[in-house]
Amino acid sequence: MIVADDRAGLLKARETLGIGAGAFSGGSALALVPTMGALHEGHRSLIRLARERAAHVAVSIFVNPLQFGPTEDYSRYPRTFDADLEACAAEGVGVVFAPSAEDMYLPDRQVGVSAGEMGSVVEGEFRPGHLDGVLTVVLKLFNLVQPDVAVFGQKDAQQLAMIRRMVADLNLPVSILGGPTVREPDGLALSSRNRYLSRDDRVAALALSRALEAGAGQALDRGDGATRTLGVGAGRRAPAEIRRAALAVLEAEPSLAVDYLVLVDPATFAEVGDDHTGEAILAVAARVGSTRLIDNVTLDIR
Ligand code: AMP
Repeated sequence: MIVADDRAGLLKARETLGIGAGAFSGGSALALVPTMGALHEGHRSLIRLARERAAHVAVSIFVNPLQFGPTEDYSRYPRTFDADLEACAAEGVGVVFAPSAEDMYLPDRQVGVSAGEMGSVVEGEFRPGHLDGVLTVVLKLFNLVQPDVAVFGQKDAQQLAMIRRMVADLNLPVSILGGPTVREPDGLALSSRNRYLSRDDRVAALALSRALEAGAGQALDRGDGATRTLGVGAGRRAPAEIRRAALAVLEAEPSLAVDYLVLVDPATFAEVGDDHTGEAILAVAARVGSTRLIDNVTLDIR
């Protein structure tokens, strides 16, 4: 496994590993999994997906200052570089790209990507500028690494939708692949931020996945004993009932401060109306103590 921290290192890695021409080659020589490190089983599942899709896998590890607000956890975000390298090596990663913030951003930087109106709703409403920062770093990573495929988690559903939007709007020569959310056995979505949670916090945090399950249960409740699990299910309940069922679970957990619970169109993240049919994403964000958690589930409303 080669560890690179700048463009020259990446070029050398490509040469050493015999990675072909990149995004314009038509094949799938290289898949990129962008991460902020503190790797867990969710990241590893994306690496395995990437390996299925391409001959070589690159993982970037970069805590992107641009996507953190002034009062957010940039400086205390978990950094576990040695363990991350071990995880990457164990998953057969060919290249780890780990630049410094100074290498990524010129001090007099002017130009970035705007996430547009779609970047100011849902997560964007609570984290102004966050999705601009995400798209800017992802575009820079695409330019530096030049992958044919890039893999992102459905866990950050709006981020994934916005990256697909950026690829379409800016004609980027890369295919985007989404991977399902990996959860603890009790339903809690894996997140690098889970390590901030105290025992009590963690119990409260479970309300997020339980709320989504309650919403999904409404969508699935066809009276025919259909299985109620998080995931895509067919149903016939109206959006309002789905939201109400999920909200009831969140409201029963007093130590949660809910930022939003929304049912949105998967492509645009606009809230769906009560007559909506087809796929919709039920997304939640809430704070437990000083830790902010997000989760979502995709529903099929018939
Ligand atoms: P992060 O390091 O948090 O920026 O996440 C890097 C990538 O891993 C993103 O594409 C996330 O959506 C994805 N990811 C984070 N948590 C999970 C999870 N529990 N399951 C699957 N993918 C995840």
